[in-house]
Amino acid sequence: MPTTKLRAVLLDRDGVLNVKADEGDYIRKPVDLRLLEGSAEAIGRLNRAGLLALVVSNQRGLTRGLMSAADLDAVHRELAAQLATAHAHLDGIYVCPHGYEDACDCRKPKPGLLLRAMREHGLAPDECVMIGDRPSDVGAAKAAGVSSVLIAPPDVACEPAPDRRADSLGAAVEWLLGKRT
Ligand SMILES: [Mg+2]
Ligand SMILES: [Zn+2]
Repeated sequence: MPTTKLRAVLLDRDGVLNVKADEGDYIRKPVDLRLLEGSAEAIGRLNRAGLLALVVSNQRGLTRGLMSAADLDAVHRELAAQLATAHAHLDGIYVCPHGYEDACDCRKPKPGLLLRAMREHGLAPDECVMIGDRPSDVGAAKAAGVSSVLIAPPDVACEPAPDRRADSLGAAVEWLLGKRT
């Protein structure tokens, strides 16, 4: 993995930064948002290392009408506030609001969200790493030409295969920063 050129980390949100909602449900309100142990500190380490931290997140609950754009904004303000308590911040949040049936180009595993984030920040694929917890995150990374780290237990299968696995965002960041020269 070409991490010596690393400039940005593309992050899935649910299951990477925060505890995910039950299957089929969404983080709809600020009160639903709970950071995973160590994730704020991991983002802070990326910040201090001078790497961009960019979230790329599917939020199909928007198109399903289960939450509004205002709800999502409120959740993201809460996310920023919780990260700020660890002196951490995100440099951008990119959301696909679409459903399976919309045939958009941005719902992961399509690469559109990643490509948009990279374009807006002037990033080449080999300057980025994607960290996610689902095969769709790895698939989107591959489609965008970006290497990937999967946050999952070693015995959980993932197709396509990620370039690396870690058991938490903290461990993934530790490894990425250690690889960097
Ligand atoms: Mg996820
Ligand atoms: Zn989309």
